[in-house]
Amino acid sequence: MANFGHVYLIGAGPGDPGLLTIRGKEILECADVVVYDRLVSPAILGMCNPKAKMVDVGKMPTHHKVKQSEINKLLVQFAQEYPQGIIARLKGGDPFVFGRGGEEALELVDAGVEFDVVPGITSAISVPAYAGIPVSHRGIATSFHIITGHEKAESNGELSLDFENLAKCQGTLIFLMGIANMDFIARRLMECGKDPKTPLAFIEKGTTPYQRTVMATLETAGETIVREKVTAPAITIMGGVVELGKTLAWKKNLPLSGKRLVVTRAAKQASGISARLTALGAEVIETPMIETRVVEGSFNWDNLANFDLLAFTSTNGVESFFTQLLASGNDIRVLAGKKIASVGKITEKKLLEYGIRCDYVPEDHTGEGLGKLLAEKCSASELDESRILLLQGNLADETLLKHLPKATRWVVYETLPVAELPEWKREAVECADAVVFASTSAVENFVQVSRLLIEDNSTKVLKHQVSFISSFVSRLSFCIGRMTEAAAQKHGFETVISDETTMDSLVKKIVEYYSAGERA
Ligand code: SAH
Repeated sequence: MANFGHVYLIGAGPGDPGLLTIRGKEILECADVVVYDRLVSPAILGMCNPKAKMVDVGKMPTHHKVKQSEINKLLVQFAQEYPQGIIARLKGGDPFVFGRGGEEALELVDAGVEFDVVPGITSAISVPAYAGIPVSHRGIATSFHIITGHEKAESNGELSLDFENLAKCQGTLIFLMGIANMDFIARRLMECGKDPKTPLAFIEKGTTPYQRTVMATLETAGETIVREKVTAPAITIMGGVVELGKTLAWKKNLPLSGKRLVVTRAAKQASGISARLTALGAEVIETPMIETRVVEGSFNWDNLANFDLLAFTSTNGVESFFTQLLASGNDIRVLAGKKIASVGKITEKKLLEYGIRCDYVPEDHTGEGLGKLLAEKCSASELDESRILLLQGNLADETLLKHLPKATRWVVYETLPVAELPEWKREAVECADAVVFASTSAVENFVQVSRLLIEDNSTKVLKHQVSFISSFVSRLSFCIGRMTEAAAQKHGFETVISDETTMDSLVKKIVEYYSAGERA
């Protein structure tokens, strides 16, 4: 057997990221390459190994982005390129339910590439379930049939469906990819004797925050699609079970349902607010715009002997310091006998993880408080100011040095704008409803990163001097506090500002804004 990578044909489920299987997630987390489709949600793409090569072969409804035959070849090619690698082929729903997964598998067999299939939750069953419609129900439907509304006969270009038999079928009929042809399908079914009053539902973007159910009957199907502007991806379900959806529709419209919000924060801090916005129904695109990096090799460890006290002002500072301490070949014994100060409880707790207890923590947990506390100890001769070492980030302000001018500052980590965003994330950001800014630096970094991306991706835009903001569908931003608002306005965002400078207040404001009806 040739030395090829292993391909996994993975079903991503219908949209809700929680419906991805555990096995699917495990593979994505360590994949070297992820070849994904249009219907895969950004949240699932966000679970993939950040180092993976992300390949978008998504198909738009009207034109095929990458032809199926090319996708098949691409998978073989990646298996060859990554001999020990894991190649994830991520497809909407289940890979073998109208997903053309079978064709891909055949090509892999031909090329001698080994593969696994990781089934997914198919939209055919789960999307009706999210609309409160059981596909089978005792006394109503004893079978269900999943049909493509898309497959054309090679001979005459007509839908290659056996309408005679479908019309006779007593079970539930579920059509995938059928919206464009539904008027025709409904008419043919009625011509073949199916009851025009058969209840029917269109479920659009099922299991996502944008899910919508539209009820009709067989005879009103065509006109309903036009009137209600039903668009793909949508499922059409026909039969008596549809009536149950009127009683069983369980999915509540949450305050932020259908809203796509970009949350820009440093990677580690983003999840708090994201989780809350998600719980309120929003689709959250997390874009870490800033990242912290250890500043390497900028310290002479022999000099550590010149200090009696080490002061930490952030958990980043603690982590960076100890990372470098260990990398230098030293260990915590070099800190023996030294006093340790922390700006507050969180940093203190982080130090404890490294086996270090703090000697000094100010009561008010601020830089100001720490500066005052240490300055007092110096005045009382408990400490020698010139033997104090401050371990801080490059953006730390001068507060501590102001109180302790003779102390030494060592920049242990830097905060930098992230170098790049993956393409799928950029697309998601550009068509978001709003951006949530939790700090001035988040605004500045967002603008800087976005500019870089625009430059990279189409130099034409810059040549024409179009402002970067015009590439976004929405210019709306939610800002925490006045400073952040001013920064966002400077760059052309429309702003809504929280009443107080807290995350609680910001989340409250976002909900208020959308429940009052959109103004933007
Ligand atoms: N393999 C997929 C189906 C691929 S065909 C599966 O098992 O679900 C694509 C069709 O699936 C779409 O045209 C639409 O009819 C249906 N579909 C997929 N996701 C959907 C969703 N979230 N809501 C409604 N229909 C969906």
